[in-house]
Amino acid sequence: MQPRNPTRPIFVGDQRTGIVQIGGGIAPDHPLAKGLASPTTAAPVSVQTMTAGYTHDIDKCVAEIHKLTAAGADVVRVAVPERKDTEALPEILAQTNVPIVADVHFHFKRALEAVEAGVHKIRLNPGNINDRDQVEAVIDACKDRKIPIRVGVNEGSIIERKDKQARAKELGAVFSDQKHGYLLSIMIAKLEEYLDIFYERDFYDIAISAKSMDATVVIDAYTEIAKRFAHPLHLGVTHAGPKETGCIRSVVALGSLMANGIGDTIRISYANDPIYEVEDGLELLYSLGLRERKGAELIACPTCGRIQVDLFSLVQDVNDKLSEAIEVPMKVAVMGCVVNGPGEAEGADVAVFAGDRKGIIYVQGEKVATVGEDEILDRLLDECKAFQERVRSGEAKLGEKKVDIVPPDPEGELGSGWEKMAAQRMGHTPLTIEGN
Ligand code: SF4
Repeated sequence: MQPRNPTRPIFVGDQRTGIVQIGGGIAPDHPLAKGLASPTTAAPVSVQTMTAGYTHDIDKCVAEIHKLTAAGADVVRVAVPERKDTEALPEILAQTNVPIVADVHFHFKRALEAVEAGVHKIRLNPGNINDRDQVEAVIDACKDRKIPIRVGVNEGSIIERKDKQARAKELGAVFSDQKHGYLLSIMIAKLEEYLDIFYERDFYDIAISAKSMDATVVIDAYTEIAKRFAHPLHLGVTHAGPKETGCIRSVVALGSLMANGIGDTIRISYANDPIYEVEDGLELLYSLGLRERKGAELIACPTCGRIQVDLFSLVQDVNDKLSEAIEVPMKVAVMGCVVNGPGEAEGADVAVFAGDRKGIIYVQGEKVATVGEDEILDRLLDECKAFQERVRSGEAKLGEKKVDIVPPDPEGELGSGWEKMAAQRMGHTPLTIEGN
């Protein structure tokens, strides 16, 4: 993991919602640090999402924002394509408690109306709001209200991409040696042209995004932008598709960038309920150690021919129950058998090793129960809740393994040893085979 790229931070929100810092760590003598009250360190990477319903449908929009906030969204964006959407904003802002971003395309007046309504950030697209007077009007309104602006140069809205080779040659084709060179040169030039308008008006509270549906364009574009602009970067793969494939596309691009220190806020986008964007975004940040985990971390084996319980259902049920009941970041392991289970679950605070329609439950290495398959879920959850209380009261410490987990005898009380299973299936004494 590379250290975070330093940027000029932006601050999104107000006293009521709480303020989310995005980026930070710029050197005080950097030209872009102008006007910053004090030196900052980089804030934890934040998770954003966007409502899927109509903004003017106030009750539904508010309900969706509450749901996304409860799932862990730090910032929520809403689309404001029509006047009736910006008219709904004051009521939505009054009923919600998370920073709200107005997503503006084509009509600069929607941005002015959203600022007037009190939103906490504006997103502008240079591809469809590029009249200088209009851009200046939005900048001035945001400056008056101290609202940051995200400039999003999405690949899809850069009209010159259709003739990118010719346009890039005009621009000097600064990246012609790269696979995406022509496109990158257009994106960078667009950004430079656009940001000059902001700088000329002494406005620096800017975040940048450069999304594409192609993960490799996203990696190349943000890498080049991070070298040139010390503004926080909002990462995302746009139009990533259904959750199943969109997840891979987003995680490969965003994970690669963040491992290299690039990126200050993320939005994973799926053609699905945005709650998945929040959940998967948070999990990505937890996996990279960029956010402190909230709730339990579930470790589960992939299962194999040694399994003797319905582990897939058990894991799903455990996952659902843990997300409802556990708030401390304990590690919970659900392992299909005792062959490799104990070693693989090392470090888990609470673990179950399944066997022949039974499970042995351990808490920090100490065996606490052997229960039948039907009781595993409830007993495991009870142990997790009890452990959570002990952590909260200071009696136990997360990650502290008091006793080594000694693999139970596969031929013992669990009766789940693969050799025994193989013998039963094959009807003869099995050969010794290595576990996975
Ligand atoms: S060996 Fe046991 S723990 Fe490992 S995948 Fe197979 S069932 Fe799961």
